[in-house]
Amino acid sequence: MTNSKYIQDFCKLLQVNTVSNGGDFATFHKVLAQVFPQVHAHLHKVDLSAVAGDRDCANVLLFKWEGISHDKPLVLMAHQDVVPVNETHWDYPPFDATIVDDKVYARGAIDCKNTLFCTMMAVEELLTQGIVPPQDVYLSYSPNEEISGAGTPIVRDYFVAKNITPFLVVDEGGALMKADGKTYHKDMLMVGATEKGYADVKFVAKGNGGHASNPPLNTPIARIAKFVNYCENHQIFRPRATKIAKKMVYKMADALPFFKRVGCKTIGVTGGLVAPIACSKLAKRAGAMLFSTTIAFTTTGGGTVRNAIPNEAYVTANIRFLQGDTSKKCFAKLTKLANKFDLEMEVIKFREASGVVDINGEGYKLFQSIANQIYPDAVVCPFLMYAGTDCRHLQPIAKHAIRCTPIALTYEQVALMHGNNENLTISALDNCIKFFKQLIQQNK
Ligand SMILES: [Zn+2]
Repeated sequence: MTNSKYIQDFCKLLQVNTVSNGGDFATFHKVLAQVFPQVHAHLHKVDLSAVAGDRDCANVLLFKWEGISHDKPLVLMAHQDVVPVNETHWDYPPFDATIVDDKVYARGAIDCKNTLFCTMMAVEELLTQGIVPPQDVYLSYSPNEEISGAGTPIVRDYFVAKNITPFLVVDEGGALMKADGKTYHKDMLMVGATEKGYADVKFVAKGNGGHASNPPLNTPIARIAKFVNYCENHQIFRPRATKIAKKMVYKMADALPFFKRVGCKTIGVTGGLVAPIACSKLAKRAGAMLFSTTIAFTTTGGGTVRNAIPNEAYVTANIRFLQGDTSKKCFAKLTKLANKFDLEMEVIKFREASGVVDINGEGYKLFQSIANQIYPDAVVCPFLMYAGTDCRHLQPIAKHAIRCTPIALTYEQVALMHGNNENLTISALDNCIKFFKQLIQQNK
């Protein structure tokens, strides 16, 4: 059963393969022009070539819709690209947009052609109604978010060159999490308020190699193993309840049944005491994502011959910086630790944790008030994001930046993001489009 008037059009977007590398973006743009004729007739498609330099901007889409006033520009973001698929693990072809019961199955259904579709459809419908927005509206769609491409940095450079300070930027991130009836008794709109930082770091152990029949102590592989083991058994980075983490736990409590709610509210208030316990080994580090910078070992390698000790072995670690933990401070700590195990450390890439949107500020309040209109029964909850979004590129030049697509998802659906059988409940599109229409009209 298809229970939204939008589903046919949404499927057209899903049926174009837009995998970051090698996707068919030309066809995708043709489909957009066909599905959103008003947007293409009335909005100004910004030429980015002057600011792109030697970066490829051919598939970056930035539309400007001129409003009555220009002092509070609204930027609605999404990305056109999707992550690759392993078709053999899908129940339906990932670019067919198969509808089963009330869901549509396709790569990009929730990450994040839904965001692109709903933002563009909101503008399309307002144009059809003859509405002029109170403020300028920009639609910004990168073709390479999933590979940390230059799409959004080019858009940022355009804003900087034109002296445009976005009042509010809204990108993918949180969603309306449907109550599961077990843990959560209420729907929660998770409003991404910030995202953690990121680093890939390589640790190398060097030695003299030798014959495996005469093994010395502390071979490269043994040192790597000891180091990894040490990191798993010790809390490397100090646990801390940031203001945003406390606020998140405190608000989430409203969706819990009574006893859990009281417990969670207490954590929200006394987070400072709870953080070290929640990050402890005893608690299986369950709270580390929220209360600490984390380190996870991701790739490793060493010898190639089974009867020889290698000259070198390595392991790479993926690190997520908590707000307030600078890369400098964390790298200094890791260097000291690496020295202890006689390892060399090499930072492959990193970025700092992003700033936190002011949840008492005008931008967040506006978003929250529309949430209360569209989803009156939901708990609106600020959210510390663990994953990365393109929003981080525009946040430094914007007054307010929010990471949330206000669309209903189940916990099962969120778990399928970047995985197999990604799907969206079709009827969820309607409220999300309504939300963006209100946001555009109420940003005065
Ligand atoms: Zn995404």
